Formats: sequence, C-alpha cells, structure tokens
Amino acid sequence: MRGQLDRVSDTVSSRPFPPGWYPVVVVGSGPGGLQTSYFLSRLGVEHAVLSADDGPGGMFRRFPLFERLISWTHPSADVPRGSREFEAHDQNSLIADDPDLGALVLDQIGEDHRRPARDEMASGLRAFAERASVGVRYGCRWESTRRDEDELVLVTSDGEYRCTVAIFAVGMTEPWVPPIPGLELGMHYVHVSSAPDRYEDRRVVIVGKRNSAFEVGEAIVRSGLRELTLVSPRPPDLARLARSPLRPWYLTPYDEHVRGAPGRYVLNASVERIERRGQEFLLHALDPTRPESVVVEVDDVVAATGFRAPLQDLPELGVTTVLDGRLPALTPFWESVTVPGVYFAGNVTQAAQGLRKHGVASVSSMVCGFRYNARILARHVAETVFGIRLGRPRIEPANVVPYLLGELTRAPELTMQKGYLARVLGIDAEAGIRNLGILPLEVFVDGSHDGVAATLEFDADETIRPVVYMRRRGVLNETALPPHPLRRYEDAEYGEPLDALVRPLLPS
Ligand SMILES: Cc1cc2nc3c(=O)[nH]c(=O)nc-3n(C[C@H](O)[C@H](O)[C@H](O)COP(=O)(O)OP(=O)(O)OC[C@H]3O[C@@H](n4cnc5c(N)ncnc54)[C@H](O)[C@@H]3O)c2cc1C
Repeated sequence: MRGQLDRVSDTVSSRPFPPGWYPVVVVGSGPGGLQTSYFLSRLGVEHAVLSADDGPGGMFRRFPLFERLISWTHPSADVPRGSREFEAHDQNSLIADDPDLGALVLDQIGEDHRRPARDEMASGLRAFAERASVGVRYGCRWESTRRDEDELVLVTSDGEYRCTVAIFAVGMTEPWVPPIPGLELGMHYVHVSSAPDRYEDRRVVIVGKRNSAFEVGEAIVRSGLRELTLVSPRPPDLARLARSPLRPWYLTPYDEHVRGAPGRYVLNASVERIERRGQEFLLHALDPTRPESVVVEVDDVVAATGFRAPLQDLPELGVTTVLDGRLPALTPFWESVTVPGVYFAGNVTQAAQGLRKHGVASVSSMVCGFRYNARILARHVAETVFGIRLGRPRIEPANVVPYLLGELTRAPELTMQKGYLARVLGIDAEAGIRNLGILPLEVFVDGSHDGVAATLEFDADETIRPVVYMRRRGVLNETALPPHPLRRYEDAEYGEPLDALVRPLLPS
C-alpha cells in the first residue's frame, strides 16, 4: 500500500496513475469519486482515480444550470467548524478525519447566502482535492470493460487498467428521455441555454415536475418569457416537503399557477405526443379529468425528464439495472447484485434504496448522503476484499444508553441519512459489546447478529423520531421513541425507556 508521500507526488505530477494494475480503480472526480478516494487512502488501500474531466468537481462544473444548490451550508453554528457535529450544518462539503479538511465549501460561499452557487461548490471541491492530495488522472475516459479471469479490465482512452475492484462514481447526469413521440424535437435540461434573453417573450412547455423542471422554470420566468406550462402525470408533492425532492425556492411558477396568473400553468396530464407545426410545436396531453386531449401551442419544448448513469457497457458485462436501465441494481454495500467486484459511489448509491419506511427515500443522491456512504464503502472494501483489520471498540454496558442517545442527538450520519444509516452495536456473550460503526440500517435488519441499531426516522406524519432496532436471540424488534420539539434526546425522557429496552440484551 502506498504512503502519503507517494500520493502527494502523484497529485503534483500532471498525470498520475498510468495504465497498469491497481488493487482498486475509481472512475470519476466528482464529489463521489473524491470522497471515496480520500477514505480508501485513509485505510491504506492502493488505488488509481481516473476522470474524463479536466479537473475536480464533477457535475458541479456544469450543473445546476441556473439556480443555487438545494443543499445548505450554514456559517453560524454552536459547534466548531470542521467538527463531526458541524457536518449537519454544512450539507455540501466533503468530510474528513482532519478538521482542517472539513467545511471547505464554507470558505467559498458568499456572505449573503446559505446555499452555494454552482461555482462556489466547484471551488470547495477543488480545495478538498488539493488539500487532501487526492490524485486523479484527468482527461482519461473509461470506454469499455471486460473480465479477465479474476481481474476487471477497464479500457480507457489512455490504455488498459486491471484491478480487483472497480468503483464507478460516474454520476447520473446523462439525459433520460421517456419514449414519448416527438419529445426528441425538444431539448433536454442538460442542453438548455443559459443566455438570459433566450426565452424572452416566448411560450415554453417543460415536460416534468421534479426539481430540475422547476429550477429551469423559475430561471426562465425571470428571463421574461410570455407563457410557461409544466406538464407531467403526477402532481407536485408539496404536502410532504420533508420527503419530496422539491425545494420551495424553485416554486414561483407553481405559486403563480395556483393563484391564477395568466400564462402560468401546471398540468397534471400525461403527454401523448408533440408535433411540429411551422415555427411552433403542439403538445397533446391527456388530462384524466377531461374527455379530450389538452393541446398547448408553444415555441420551445424542454424535457426535464430526468437523468441516467453513464454505465457504458456494464450491462453487457452482466450488471443488472433498474429504473429502465438508468441505475445499476445494488446490494446494501453498493456492489452490483450480479457482478462481484463492481461497486458504485457518489449519487449512483441512491440505487440501494434501503428500507424506505413510509416511502421515505435516502439522501444518497446528494453530497450530504453519499459522503457517508463513501466511508462505509471504503471500509467494507478494505476489510472484505483486502483483509485490512478495522477496529471495533468495546463499549462498557453502563455507557451504551448515553452513547446511543448522544449519537441520536448529534451524529450527522443519522441526521442526514434518516432511516437509511444507523449506529450499530454488536452484542455477544464472549466479545462483549462492540461498536460496529455507522452501517446501512438494512444490513443490521437483514443480518443475524444480536445487537442494537439506533437511527432517526420520519414517521407517517413526517415527524422525526429516534427509532431503536434490537435483535435478541435472533428475534428482531423495533421501537419508535417519542419525538422531541428541539430534537434533543439526552435526558431521562429517552434514557429510561432506552435503558429498559436494551438492558435485557446487555451482558450482566
Ligand atoms: C440539476 C441537478 C442539481 C443538483 N443539485 C444538487 C444539490 O444542490 N446538492 C447536492 O448535494 N446534489 C445535487 N445534485 C445531485 C448531484 O448529482 C450530486 O450531488 C453530485 O454531483 C454527484 O456526484 P458524483 O461524484 O456522484 O457524480 P458527478 O458529480 O456527476 O461526477 C461524475 C464524474 O464521473 C466522470 N465520468 C463519468 N463517465 C466517465 C467515463 N466514462 N470515464 C471517465 N470519467 C467519467 C465525470 O467526468 C465526473 O468527473 C444535483 C443534480 C442535478 C442533476
């Protein structure tokens, strides 16, 4: 395994990681690739990082197109900057064991706002790559993949890379367009022009009602367009904001539609087809409440219909996909369910959905979620593939309850990845109580060892509650504790019931 000095010299050399054999190859220099490389290095796992880009930052070198990020970075907090607790105040920075490497987006963000602009986010990621000495071979495109006995072979624009484990942090920014006749006449979100006068005095229809649709809509409303219609079958889920990806600050077009502003329409209808008529387009949509199709005449059609991961030929290698081929099917540790040794990091980890209780999704599609997945993934690969022994500290029985309540109150992993990640303690008559770390909750629930897993969950009413899962003599139980208005769980109101729950499990 390489030392820190080698990594620094790789970083300064213009093109580290020439083609050849590496235990692990990471593809991608977005936040997912950078975060994964950082944790692999901390564990001493030798690896190469390849990227088609010219520098670090990934998607944030290009998207979001118009607006600030949807994730927060709050400068003022009651905990030290760079501490573990501060991570909950800053959803955008990558995380590190060294406090000086944490919260780097905070240095970039303007004083008058709390959500970074795209270029501020990209600068924060660049600062992380430089200060953490994350070496990347830029300008190197992975083109195809094959298996050669026990090795994976990644064929790239620079030559062949052989490895035991490949980790693809390739993002999910390729246009995905559903098979609607004529939709190809429009342009996808990723190709929308950001020229301020491009949509002035024009009639625009946006197909889609997710965040990217409202983000484009909000931006082009400001550019002076004449008419804006958003259309897709399902209504925007505004009543359940905690679990909806929609963010209120993009919703001016919706607000104006609800209040009846002329030329602002949000239709719950499925698009049948789009056809060209002279200089304009006719969009035909089926509104289930009306006997005939609604026809909208427009000058421009924008498909904000979502994205797919650029999986190249991985499906031919045997990687099973989900969601119409947009994402790989993954195990809870983000390995392909069908091709061992092929792992995914970054926002592709959203494909491992976890328990999804009450329909609540993880935030693995965002930096604040997948930065924690990256640490777990690196530990999992280091231990299970390369045999690196990881510490599992012992906890005294008397400390279990205060420790778990402290984690429920302050652990950023639990605050961010609700119902998806959990603090897990293993309990064994001989080994005693061991801290197994932060793990996917699904791993504990589907496992067989006795122990306890503490997590935070949204209940059916979107109220945040601590939830404790326990397995004793192979039988799993789950207990939701009451919510607290200030989300503080360290007093007797929580200590006593938690003590009563876990006491039968603890060695006397
Ligand atoms: C419009 C939009 C807005 C978003 N807003 C937010 C937000 O506000 N906050 C947030 O946390 N998340 C946001 N996201 C989610 C966002 O995608 C992730 O947070 C983040 O960028 C994903 O990081 P990643 O490293 O997984 O992928 P990316 O950032 O997409 O990076 C992928 C990397 O893989 C490389 N790559 C891909 N294919 C190849 C290849 N064949 N060979 C070599 N290299 C390759 C790319 O060059 C790039 O370096 C948004 C997404 C979209 C689409």
